[in-house]
Amino acid sequence: VSHRGEAFRAMAAAAEADLRQLLGVPPDYRVLFLPGGATLQFAGVPMNLAAPGQAVDYVDTGLWSAKAIDAARPYADVKVVASTAAGGYRDVPEKGAIRARAEAVYLHYTANETIGGVEFPYVPEASVPLVVDASSTILSRPFDVAAHGLIYAGAQKNIGPSGLTLVIVREDLLGRASPLTPAVLDYARQAADGSMLNTPPTFAWYLAGLVFRWLIDQGGVAAMATRNERKARLLYEAIDGSDFYRCPVAPRARSWMNVPFLLRRPELDATFLKDAAEAGLVNLAGHRLAGGGMRASLYNAMPEEGVRALVAFLHAFAQRHA
Ligand code: PMP
Repeated sequence: VSHRGEAFRAMAAAAEADLRQLLGVPPDYRVLFLPGGATLQFAGVPMNLAAPGQAVDYVDTGLWSAKAIDAARPYADVKVVASTAAGGYRDVPEKGAIRARAEAVYLHYTANETIGGVEFPYVPEASVPLVVDASSTILSRPFDVAAHGLIYAGAQKNIGPSGLTLVIVREDLLGRASPLTPAVLDYARQAADGSMLNTPPTFAWYLAGLVFRWLIDQGGVAAMATRNERKARLLYEAIDGSDFYRCPVAPRARSWMNVPFLLRRPELDATFLKDAAEAGLVNLAGHRLAGGGMRASLYNAMPEEGVRALVAFLHAFAQRHA
């Protein structure tokens, strides 16, 4: 099947229409299905929106923010206008404490820090276009697209297979890319070509379309939000209600998607992971860059029974080692 053929184009049009319906994307926004992962957009964003040396502002709430900040430095005058690094990335900045420079061409933040489990409970206010890395929260709950100039998200959490990245960009921000921007990274050129400037990641795109259909059938992002909040609450209550485990993240900033937790006796970490795997509960090791511990990811695809199984295991393990 050629990506330029009728069948693929029809699939692509349906996928975009479904996504627009799910997120309530306003008509003056373009939706791009790009190759390369969210990491490529760490550079793509400043290349498209800022001329060399122009001011771009960033909020630093964790390891993914930090990567976005480092990647932008070669292309623009980067300033970190708010950071929670000093506190070990366990909270979001106070609402109202984020102030972009008047001359900044955008303000960037990471809606959900996948490694740290820190999620913004609010949309930062900005007098400049707001850019968000929504990789690990997109489609998990309603999202105010119109409050943002640009939204990008890698596919592999709530969208589909890795390698595909969604970019949703307000039309007035197109056409500012620096001349050295490679064509596949140039949002205006990709928008003009239906994201088919070269061979796109066709299979990932097709599966993303199926996931959007599935989400609509589930009742859309509002229904997912109800489920995801309940899933997360079950797990945080189990952690907070036990003196065997603890969650390091400030309650207001706790992610619905990634729940980091620590054993109060870290010498049991390896046993915990081994016993959990034997119980069919895998991928619970925390990220090495976050200093280990545990992390449970509760993306849309995780059913509530998976969370209940983990909660039952947490109780049983704590009892065995009391
Ligand atoms: N941003 C966030 C918030 C992420 O969680 C990830 C990947 N886990 C990335 C960016 C990078 O995505 P990719 O590996 O697709 O480039």
